[in-house]
Amino acid sequence: MQPNSVSPASEKQHIVIVGGGMTGGLLAVLLAEQGLTVTVLDGAPAPVMPTGPAQLRVSTLTEASHWLLQNSGVWEYLDMSRVQPYDAMQVWDQDGTGEVLFRAREVGAQSLGWLLENGHLAAALYRRAADYPNLHWRCGVAVEGARREEGRWQVRAGDEQWQADLLVGADGARSRVRDWAGISGGARDSGHHALVATIATALPHNACARQVFMESGPLALLPLYSDPQQGEQRQCSIVWSGWPERIARLREAAPADFAAELQAATGEALGEVTLLSERAVFPIQERHASSYVAAGLALVGDAAHVIHPLAGQGVNLGLLDAAVLAEEVERATQSGRSCADSAALARYQRRRRGENLLMQNAMRGFQQLFGQRALPVRWLRNTGMRWVNQAGPLKRLFASQAMGRGADLPVRARPRA
Ligand SMILES: Cc1cc2nc3c(=O)[nH]c(=O)nc-3n(C[C@H](O)[C@H](O)[C@H](O)COP(=O)(O)OP(=O)(O)OC[C@H]3O[C@@H](n4cnc5c(N)ncnc54)[C@H](O)[C@@H]3O)c2cc1C
Repeated sequence: MQPNSVSPASEKQHIVIVGGGMTGGLLAVLLAEQGLTVTVLDGAPAPVMPTGPAQLRVSTLTEASHWLLQNSGVWEYLDMSRVQPYDAMQVWDQDGTGEVLFRAREVGAQSLGWLLENGHLAAALYRRAADYPNLHWRCGVAVEGARREEGRWQVRAGDEQWQADLLVGADGARSRVRDWAGISGGARDSGHHALVATIATALPHNACARQVFMESGPLALLPLYSDPQQGEQRQCSIVWSGWPERIARLREAAPADFAAELQAATGEALGEVTLLSERAVFPIQERHASSYVAAGLALVGDAAHVIHPLAGQGVNLGLLDAAVLAEEVERATQSGRSCADSAALARYQRRRRGENLLMQNAMRGFQQLFGQRALPVRWLRNTGMRWVNQAGPLKRLFASQAMGRGADLPVRARPRA
């Protein structure tokens, strides 16, 4: 089933979301569930359920994201044979002896997270959207302009126009909605590019996410679902971040040389590796919008903030943005106010901006800490890692943060009673 693509007849309390990626898609579902009239406009073709080899773009989802998707009825649209839960996480310093091993049972959970393809989650959201006749979803519609007139947003694509009481920019890092609202994107070059690829490994990953920190940048080995052709637990998705020239060299290397370098970098943690896919490279430009809101407008997900992927938190922060915005909109409309109520938007910004900024700064701190060669810093970080590994409460605190167990979680991101 496909979502309703006919433009809405009633335009009272109309919300237009530009961008139907993972963040925009979840927001649309959460708002439609409240009975609001929502239109999603996305320039890309309709997302389809993946089949065949794993897609290159994958994401690790936290416990909070998992509950959000469960509680909004999206999880049941996923093909569970393509979702890999992981119950351990091993982080180590290539340049020393420091290592931290997190286990789900130490924090009273079954899983620390889940790995799935971005296109898979987008397709599940699109299917879930079809359950709501008040949710209109148009694919292949690239929005070209938006301006505010007489208290409403006029949104334009080709010959078509939509009027919105609330306009949401969920249009990714290069958000044009952000530009049309006159909000600065606050871009900063992280000095890293990220290479992503799929590999087969001789040893099983045993549902453990691994990350090695090197002076040149971090390398993550993320456990993929089992592929009958590669064997039980013998496929990983890698995210290798580093200096642009090093990453360019890795992309150009012959597959066997690339695999050899990968094996050496990970200390043969998973034995012999074979490259299964092409290698795609993404420049990592961090961003933080100067404001998440303007009159009748909100930014969510990468449109509001882009962080280094080293801890796999970007989508998770975006999904929480969506849930908090939906919660504040609901609070406003239930007390008879507009869906674009300025106090509701201000509360959304207050609840999300500090948290996202904290995560962005933490990622920057990790990148800098592990990029240092000076002996005292290396000694300190290795000693620190060994200490964290032995200190139960601190380790649990780190694990809880990585799982998205924050203090101000929206109701939908909390476990079902
Ligand atoms: C290498 C790498 C690895 C990562 N790994 C992880 C991870 O493990 N875990 C994690 O949580 N995060 C990860 N991230 C971050 C994550 O990918 C992003 O945070 C996430 O994709 C952002 O989702 P979004 O929906 O906000 O934006 P996007 O995914 O960018 O979606 C934006 C949507 O808007 C549409 N659009 C754009 N402009 C227009 C327009 N003018 N009109 C209509 N539609 C428009 C696009 O077609 C698109 O569908 C990683 C990032 C990178 C680069």
